[in-house]
Amino acid sequence: MEYYSSHINKLIEEFSRLPGIGAKSAQRLAFHVLNMPMDQVQSLSNAILNAKANVQYCKSCYTLTDQEICPICKNPRRDHHVIMVVENTRDLAAYEKTGKFEGVYHVLHGAISPMLGIGPDDIKLKELMQRITEQDIQEVIIATNSSLEGETTAMYISKLIKPAGIKVSRIASGVPVGGDLEYIDEVTLLRALEGRVEL
Ligand code: ZN
Repeated sequence: MEYYSSHINKLIEEFSRLPGIGAKSAQRLAFHVLNMPMDQVQSLSNAILNAKANVQYCKSCYTLTDQEICPICKNPRRDHHVIMVVENTRDLAAYEKTGKFEGVYHVLHGAISPMLGIGPDDIKLKELMQRITEQDIQEVIIATNSSLEGETTAMYISKLIKPAGIKVSRIASGVPVGGDLEYIDEVTLLRALEGRVEL
């Protein structure tokens, strides 16, 4: 038996597709939206549509940005010879918050995971290799998470890059194993960056 109208069911279904949203939360969100004033609902749905329509990958580092080249890559005061490789834009933001990293980034948008069937071609690795061959890069700092996937990715990248004679380092293991970079405080992040070891 259907308890709700098909419109409500559809809304619940859409919410339940979001990460971390179970059936109960999806229902709660759907009813919350239905109780919101129309202008707020409009503003929420516009924000989603506008973000999706205007946000793109930076042509250089592949972070999410609303410009062709992101502000970090555009900044002449950054050290463009040092690239920090991170798994996603949230990790980039975590390092940016420390305000101490002066290089540029490369965002992989994932990590290699044989278990989940995610291979090197499924993340922005070719793009990283292209940057390394085309630009004058002195150091690549691998700041993937210390999960199994993050470590696998770090090893893979190091094997790819080292033959090119470029210094490759890995952030120190001050970052707890399995810890997501974005949840780690700035002091720990800085320590991990400063204590990085050459691979
Ligand atoms: Zn960029």
